[in-house]
Amino acid sequence: MLVNMNGQLLPKEKAVVSVFDHGLLYGDGVFEGVRAYNGRVFRLTQHLERLYDSAKAILLTPPLPLEALRKEILRTLAANGLKDAYIRPVFTRGPGDLSLSPASCPRASYFIITDRIRLYPEATYRDGLALITVPTRRNVSEALSPKIKSLNYLNNILAKIEATQRGALEAVLLTQDGYVAECTADNLFILRKGRLLTPPTWQGALEGVTRQAVLELAEKRRVSAVEEPITRYDIYTSQEAFMTGTAAEIVPVTALDGRSIGDGEPGPLTKGLMRDYRDLTRREGDRIPAARKTRP
Ligand code: PMP
Repeated sequence: MLVNMNGQLLPKEKAVVSVFDHGLLYGDGVFEGVRAYNGRVFRLTQHLERLYDSAKAILLTPPLPLEALRKEILRTLAANGLKDAYIRPVFTRGPGDLSLSPASCPRASYFIITDRIRLYPEATYRDGLALITVPTRRNVSEALSPKIKSLNYLNNILAKIEATQRGALEAVLLTQDGYVAECTADNLFILRKGRLLTPPTWQGALEGVTRQAVLELAEKRRVSAVEEPITRYDIYTSQEAFMTGTAAEIVPVTALDGRSIGDGEPGPLTKGLMRDYRDLTRREGDRIPAARKTRP
């Protein structure tokens, strides 16, 4: 497997960052998780725009322009001969000294990992997932906006650990004032009284690319889909629920905190949207070029 490090394709073992990189020392950087299906990169522009917005929000000057990064991503996939892949572009603040200040980091670095990913077993997509609410609250926007996809994921990691400790695969994180924000790496939707609801992004949810795709797909099905603050009570009393994310795709949620959702089985709308999303990901996207033949 070849990893792209600042434009150089290196074998995995050689793809290493400096211990002085502020991305490692302080989580000072931003990243994306993108996915390719059948030779096409799904919604690459939206992911790149979110990455550049995240960089802007943390005052990180991108190490290369957006269109150049698009080309590097496609080149890396081609070099690895991948048609179906999970893609991880990362910007780090770059190597500096031991002070917090980015002033000691003359240039941001980037790398692109292209690999395969499977977050949940097949049975999860068929039978659904039981969630629990964890004690750790979502970061407050005034401290570190959850809209920034930064390398500082400790908030999410702590929630994940708390879920695992209690035997659950995933967690619901609440905002400071007790509204539902999102799961540790996925957005959350519920179907309640005929309306599909997802928390607004100002309430601690990432502006998920899959979330956006699902809002569009629901509209195509003429299901009213709205961003609205939701509480745990709304989830307990919903008919259907599911999580969305690039890596996880659409995962049916069949319980929260020991209360089964609907009849405890993935619901018809969830299953329909899973099919729609599958079709959409196979239809759209930037094409991965054919791998260039190396001369003998
Ligand atoms: N929330 C968080 C915290 C995430 O890290 C992600 C990405 N894995 C998502 C939601 C889902 O976003 P997307 O659909 O763009 O992958």
